[in-house]
Amino acid sequence: MSWKTIDDLDLGGKVVLVRVDVNVPMENGVVTDTTRIDKIVPTIEDILKKGGKPVLLAHFGRPKGEVVPEMSLKLIVPALQAALPGRKVIFGEDCIGAPAKAAVGAMGPGDVVLLENTRFHLGEEKNDAQLAAGMAALGDVYVNDAFSAAHRAHSSTEGIAKLLPHAAGRLMEAELKALEAALGKPQRPVVAVVGGAKVSTKLDLLGNLVSKVDHLVIGGGMANTFLVAQGIEVGKSLAERDMAPTALEILEKAKTAGCTIHLPVDVVVAREFKAGATNETVAANACPADAMILDAGPKTVEELTKVFAASKTLIWNGPLGAFEIPPFDAATIAAARTVAELTKAGKLVSVAGGGDTVAALNQAGVADDFSYISTAGGAFLEWMEGKELPGVVALTQ
Ligand code: AMP
Repeated sequence: MSWKTIDDLDLGGKVVLVRVDVNVPMENGVVTDTTRIDKIVPTIEDILKKGGKPVLLAHFGRPKGEVVPEMSLKLIVPALQAALPGRKVIFGEDCIGAPAKAAVGAMGPGDVVLLENTRFHLGEEKNDAQLAAGMAALGDVYVNDAFSAAHRAHSSTEGIAKLLPHAAGRLMEAELKALEAALGKPQRPVVAVVGGAKVSTKLDLLGNLVSKVDHLVIGGGMANTFLVAQGIEVGKSLAERDMAPTALEILEKAKTAGCTIHLPVDVVVAREFKAGATNETVAANACPADAMILDAGPKTVEELTKVFAASKTLIWNGPLGAFEIPPFDAATIAAARTVAELTKAGKLVSVAGGGDTVAALNQAGVADDFSYISTAGGAFLEWMEGKELPGVVALTQ
């Protein structure tokens, strides 16, 4: 990989513009989960250690070019201050111009500046060159630590990288290394687990994976569409019947590429989409006409355990069943625990990502036991789809 890290740059006395993701959940103006803030601390501290002056650039919500007080980054200053004990956090009322210059000018050694929401400017999402130049004028070096925003070519993620010497921050570095280990140059065999509701939202993902991995496990509602495509009746299950031809194409592509597809062999069915609904386990081709498939069954889990145990690398996006409503989380949780055990034993490199997937792994209590969990929703998916992420590409040029 041809991107630099902050170890490769001389930062002594330099103003370092750092693109971060601080899109934290907030209630009544108070941050309710500081995970994203905590994750950028190593980058900020390392820049300070190297004598650099970190100036943070970020978006917050979707203000669409308007100044929206509830989306002001000023609201996260207390949480950022708490995450950086002993440091002074200075807020700049704009990300360009006189207010930004004043904040940067007021920095003493060890201070950190946070600039106002980049998306208060209409140009940000248009990758406006003038806005990028306005931000670049504030500093000497650009560091991108926001992998989760790297699938967007915006002024603060792409445009600015063209104007300054640049490098990946610690979080970006960890993410890129994990992704490279999972799909770039992975140890084989590689197994991908793709679940979730619909085939239609994950077509590019499935198409890319079949050409890259040795085993593809298809679970969740989207597995129903594959069952239908093979002439199997799925009763009242969620299934995209019009996607059946596409599902067959994916199966065909997999065969040509030498990728083995694993569909559920048994399923848990119920008459209601409700927690605790009366349910039964039946063979995958025996869903009663008045029932719906809500999870994979124990035989399927057993088969997956064998596939996982025979693999060296695993990549996962999407739950194997309707995991929000127990007991239909059973297959997802059992499979997640198996992956966690194999990872802990040093037998498997495991990378997972996507909002629902992270929630499911947390529910299984194993999120810390995977090799890497990406909290970047859209960017992680686009990367799994084999797309180039403009924010990452910009770091390599
Ligand atoms: P996605 O956002 O595409 O990853 O889909 C995640 C959603 O798929 C979750 O809300 C699950 O409850 C849902 N899901 C997974 N399996 C099923 C199923 N068999 N029937 C209905 N919904 C499902």
